[in-house]
Amino acid sequence: MSHHQRLLSCKSQSHSVLAALVLLLLTGVATAQEKPARFEVIKVTDEIYVHRDNGHMNLFLITDEGIVVVDPMNPGAGSNLAQVLQRMAPDKKLLAIVYSHYHADHAGGARPLLDVYGDDVPIVANKRTGELLADKNWKSVVPPTKLIDPPWSMKAGNLTLEMRHVGPNHSSDMLVAWVPEANLAYIVDFVSNESVGYRDLPGVWLPQYWESIDKVLEWPIELATFGHGMPGNKKSIEDHAEYWRKLRATIRDAIANGVKEDEAVENIQMPEYKDWRSYEEWFPMNVRAVYRYEKKAVAESAE
Ligand SMILES: [Zn+2]
Repeated sequence: MSHHQRLLSCKSQSHSVLAALVLLLLTGVATAQEKPARFEVIKVTDEIYVHRDNGHMNLFLITDEGIVVVDPMNPGAGSNLAQVLQRMAPDKKLLAIVYSHYHADHAGGARPLLDVYGDDVPIVANKRTGELLADKNWKSVVPPTKLIDPPWSMKAGNLTLEMRHVGPNHSSDMLVAWVPEANLAYIVDFVSNESVGYRDLPGVWLPQYWESIDKVLEWPIELATFGHGMPGNKKSIEDHAEYWRKLRATIRDAIANGVKEDEAVENIQMPEYKDWRSYEEWFPMNVRAVYRYEKKAVAESAE
């Protein structure tokens, strides 16, 4: 019986303080039980899946020929995914682990997969990712063993996995995964489904970040999955592009009207996005980052 069903059945016979008390108790219990589990597997098609670890997602393919994992995420997620894969596809080998970009919250976690499938499983990454990782030397991120010059693709059974670079955006090395047989794009960190931008866009390349989104939208996308946010479709990406367009236009108007940075951060709101992830906390920070970019662009065009 779900939480809501419980509420209904209690309400229909709510005639005593006792019933209200029972309702309170049940609600408390139900809430504790309904806290989402850390890990989840989301099926996108018969051969395409997403492994969720709290707010982080990856992409993995289970084909006739074998398994491909794009982004092992972190050691805990990698370890859970290894168990999941052995349950879902006990006889299949892992053909490759592929990194979208160098950040440890997406690329960390290959180690437990290699422990199960063997150290000879290739770890594929953009050559730029290899350089960045060699520089960082992070413990959790296994260095790539196959450096590629995008675009790059591999076949796995009936599916093709293509890794494309659409410019620097959230990072300089970012690759987007494209599975042409499903018209599916997997985008990490420069588009997150139903989420505003991350904080004040630290380390983000502007305006290439926005141009990257437009480039991806030229593809014949039907399905879209993300490093953050639930799987969606082309509209999920269009909505995100629209968010930035509206915010930039609003801020350019504010600048033209002499609004100062702090006033803009305090007063600009886009309540139509209030249900998006982290709107309360990150939207004002998005405003500040975009204000600074647009202000500089105005100054440069006046020179
Ligand atoms: Zn990242």
